[in-house]
Amino acid sequence: MKITKTTCPYCGVGCGVIVEQDAAGAFKVRPDKEHPANLGRLCSKGTALAETLDHPQRLLYPEIDGQRVTWDVATTTIASRFQQIIAEHGADAVAFYVSGQLLTEDYYVANKLMKGYLGAANIDTNSRLCMSSAVAAHKRAFGEDLVSCSYEDLEAAELIVLVGSNTAWCHPVLYQRMVKAKKLNPALQVVTIDPRRTQTADLADLHLGLAPGTDAFLFNGLLAWLAENGHTDHAFVSQSTNGMEQAVELAKTTAPSAQTVATQCNLAVEAVEQFFRLFAATQRVVTVFSQGINQSSSGVDKGNALINCHLLTGRIGKVGAGAFSFTGQPNAMGGREVGGLANQLAAHLDIDNPQHRDLVQRFWQSPRIAPHAGLKAVDLFQAMEAGKVKAVWIMGTNPAVSLPDSAQVRRALLGCELVVVSDCVRNTDTVDLAHIRLPALTWGERDGTVTNSDRTISRQPPFLPAPGEAKQDWQILAEVAQAMGFNAAFQYQSAHEIFREHAALSAFENHGERCFNLGAWQTLTAADYDQLAPMQWPLDAAGQGTTRLFADGKFFTPSGKAQFIAVQPRLPQSQRTPEFPFVLNTGRVRDHWHTLTRTGISPRLSAHVSEPYVEMHPCDARDQGLQDGGIARIYTAPQSVLVKVKTSRDQQRGSLFVPMHWSGQFSGAAGVGALIPAIVDPISGQPESKHAVVAIEAYQAAWQGFLISRRKLALYPSPPSPLSLKGRGGARDSLAPLPLRERGWGEGFYWTAIKVPNAWRYELAGQQPAADWATFARDLLCQHAADVNWTEYLDVARQTYRAARFLGGQLESCLFISAAAERLPPREWLVSLFAQETLSHSDRTSLLAGKPAVAGEDKGRTVCACFNVGEKTIRKVIAEQGLSSVEAIGRCLNAGTNCGSCLPELQALLS
Ligand code: SF4
Repeated sequence: MKITKTTCPYCGVGCGVIVEQDAAGAFKVRPDKEHPANLGRLCSKGTALAETLDHPQRLLYPEIDGQRVTWDVATTTIASRFQQIIAEHGADAVAFYVSGQLLTEDYYVANKLMKGYLGAANIDTNSRLCMSSAVAAHKRAFGEDLVSCSYEDLEAAELIVLVGSNTAWCHPVLYQRMVKAKKLNPALQVVTIDPRRTQTADLADLHLGLAPGTDAFLFNGLLAWLAENGHTDHAFVSQSTNGMEQAVELAKTTAPSAQTVATQCNLAVEAVEQFFRLFAATQRVVTVFSQGINQSSSGVDKGNALINCHLLTGRIGKVGAGAFSFTGQPNAMGGREVGGLANQLAAHLDIDNPQHRDLVQRFWQSPRIAPHAGLKAVDLFQAMEAGKVKAVWIMGTNPAVSLPDSAQVRRALLGCELVVVSDCVRNTDTVDLAHIRLPALTWGERDGTVTNSDRTISRQPPFLPAPGEAKQDWQILAEVAQAMGFNAAFQYQSAHEIFREHAALSAFENHGERCFNLGAWQTLTAADYDQLAPMQWPLDAAGQGTTRLFADGKFFTPSGKAQFIAVQPRLPQSQRTPEFPFVLNTGRVRDHWHTLTRTGISPRLSAHVSEPYVEMHPCDARDQGLQDGGIARIYTAPQSVLVKVKTSRDQQRGSLFVPMHWSGQFSGAAGVGALIPAIVDPISGQPESKHAVVAIEAYQAAWQGFLISRRKLALYPSPPSPLSLKGRGGARDSLAPLPLRERGWGEGFYWTAIKVPNAWRYELAGQQPAADWATFARDLLCQHAADVNWTEYLDVARQTYRAARFLGGQLESCLFISAAAERLPPREWLVSLFAQETLSHSDRTSLLAGKPAVAGEDKGRTVCACFNVGEKTIRKVIAEQGLSSVEAIGRCLNAGTNCGSCLPELQALLS
C-alpha cells in the first residue's frame, strides 16, 4: 500500500487528504485526522476525489493551431512571439492570467517572469473574482494582507457572525466544525447575514435576510451603536488604532440608529437590535465574511465596515475573536503571498513603493522591474479587446466562463494576436479559443505547496505519473523564460528550490516590518520539504508558526497601529428597472466546483444538483408564469441563459439565484457570466457578481426529452475560429459539429450534460417539434457505425418518440421525447441499464416503456452523495418511522454519517 499525504484541491478550507494506492493500483481517499484544517473530516467533493483522477479529456501534448508540436517548438514560439510583441508595443502589451488553482511555486515563477523579466505587472489571477476586496480591506486596516484568525477560533468563539457566506455549501468542513462547536457549547450563538436564507442559516440563532448589497449600512449602524452605548475598548483603540473618530462619525451620519438601519436594510428593527446587543454582549466574536461581501462594487468598504467593529471593541488578535475572510480557492492565499495580483509585488511587498520595487529587483537580480501596477482581470480583457494587450498566457483557469460579461471576454480572446493556454483538460470554453495549448499537470501529479484561508501552508506532493507530455506550470514557465534568454534566473530543478527562494525573499531585508516571513525555511533540505508538516505563517526564528496575528496589538501600517476606515455605504451600481425588475445573485452549489472540469466527470457529485437552475420565490414564479421544474429564460440585453426553475421561500421576492458552474461544455446556454455586467469595486477591481439586474420569462418548450449515451456527445457548437498563428481561420481542431444548430435547432435549444454511471445523460428541450424524430435521433447519435441497430416507437397523436440504439447486444444510447415533461419516464432505471454489457431480454423488452417489468423504488433526487440516498427515500422513512433528528435518519439510512455535507438538507427535510 502506497500512502501519500496531501491536501484537497478544491476550496480554501485546505483539508488534509490521505491517498492510498493498493497493490492493484486502485486509489482510495480518506481524510487526514492530523491536518489542522479538517481534523479527520472531508466534504462530499473531497470524499469523491478518487473518482476524478482519470480525466477522459486530458490535454496530453503541446499544440499550435490544433496540431501537435514538440515542447521545444511550443516554448520557442511563445518566447519569440512574446518578445516580438514587447519589442513592437512595449511590455504592457503582454499579460498572464493565472489561477488560485496553481501551486505557490508555479505562481512564484509566473510572477517573477512577468514582473522582474518581462517588466510589466500584467499578471492577474482568477482570485481577483473571489477575494481581492478582502485583500484590499486587510491592507487598509492592517497595513498588510493579513488574516488574523485561525480555524480553532471558530471553536473558541461565543458568537460567530457569517456575512455573505453559505459556509454549509462553500466551505463545508468549516461548517461541520461550527456544527460540532455548537453541539459542544450550546451557548455559542450563530448569526447569518445574507439576502438568501441558505443551508447555513439552519445553524443560525438569528438570520438577517437583509436587502441585497446593504451590508455596509448594517455594520456602520453596529459601529455607531457600539460607540454610543459604551462598548468601545478605549485602551485598545488608543494604543493600537488610528482614525476611530472619523469612522464613528461617518457611521453615525450614515446609519444613526437601529431604526434607520432596519429601514435601509429592510429588516425588522427588533432583529437589528438583537444582533447589535448580541455583538455588544459577547467578547469572543468571529465575523466570517466571504463572496457575499467581496463580490460587490463596494466590497472593500464593506470589509472595512465590519473590521471597524472589531477594532472598536478590541475583538481582534485574541482567542475566539477577529474578522475572518474565508477564501474561495485552494491557493488564493498562496497566490497573494507571491504577488499573483496585478497590483502586488512578491512577498507582500507593494508595487507602488519604489523601495519595495528596488528590494525585489535586487533580490531577483533582474534586468528590470514592473514600474507600476498592471491591469486587473476585467480591465485586462477589456484592454485585450481594445487591441492594447496583444498576447495572453492563461494558466489553469477558464475566464471565458467565469469572468463577468463573458461574451466580451470571448470577443477579446478571439481577436487577440496570441492566446496561450496551459491546462490539464483538452476542451474547455477557454482552451477552445487558444492558439497554443500546453498540457499541464494537475492534482496528484504536480509537486508544491498551497496556503489555505487561515495561513496554513501544506504540501501537495505527486502520487501519479505525468500523463503524456504534460509538465508542471513552473517547468513550462522556466523553459519559456530560458528560451527568452533568462537562463540563470530560471534554472530550477525542483519545486523545492523555488519554495526556498520564495521563503528567502520573504525574509530579505525584513527586520520585522513585514509580517509575511518564511525565513526559517530558506535553507530547508529537499527531505524536509517533502516531509513539511502543515504550518501557519509567519514563522519565528525557530521555524514555529503563528496561530493568531496581532496578539501584541502591533499592526503593519507605518504607524504600527490598525487603521479605522470611515465608510460611506453605497448601494450596488445596477438597480432594478421596470424592464429588468429582478436582482440576480450567483454562487456555488454543494457538490460542484468552478466550471465543472473535474467535478462534472463524477456521477456521484453530479447527482446532487444535476442541472443549472434559477432559485426564486414561488410568488414571483407564479407572477411570471413559471412553474417549478419548468425552464426559464433569464435575460438582460443582449444576453440570456436557459435554466430550470426551482421555487423556494428562502429566496427574497424580486431576487434570483443562479449557480456559476455551467460552461458551454455542459450546457447549451447556462453560463451565468453572460448576465453579469463588468462592474467592479474601484479599489479592488473585484466584479459585482452578486448583483446584476435581469428579467425572467417562461421558455415555451414544444417538447422535452432526455438522452442517455455511453459516449460524451459534442452537443456544444464549434466556437468561431480565432486568428491562427498563420492567419485567420487556421487549423483549429474540429469539435464535432452541432447537428441541431446546422438544422436550425441550435438557437433556443436547451440541453444539459450530466455524468451518470457508465454514461452521460442529456436533458433536452426545444421550441419546435422535429419534422422527423427518427432523423433527429440519428443526427444526434450518429448513424454511421457498423453493427448498429435501432428500436423505435412513435406515437404521433401524443407526440411521443422513443428510441434505443444498440451496438451488437449492448445498449449504446436511448432517447425519449415527449410534448409534455410529465410523460417522460424516471431516468434512474434507464441509467442502470448501462451497467449491463449485454442487455437482458426482459430489460430490452421493457426499455422503450421506460420502466422495468417489476417496478423498483424511485429514490428521488440524491441528497446524500456518499451513500446515494435520495430525497423520496428520506421523506418516506421520516414519515413511516416518525424520525425527528438527523441522527435518526443516519441510523436508518446512513445518510449524513460520512462527510456530513448533506446535514443541512436532512434538517430541512425534517422541518
Ligand atoms: S471543505 Fe471539501 S472541498 Fe473544501 S478543502 Fe475540504 S474536502 Fe475539499
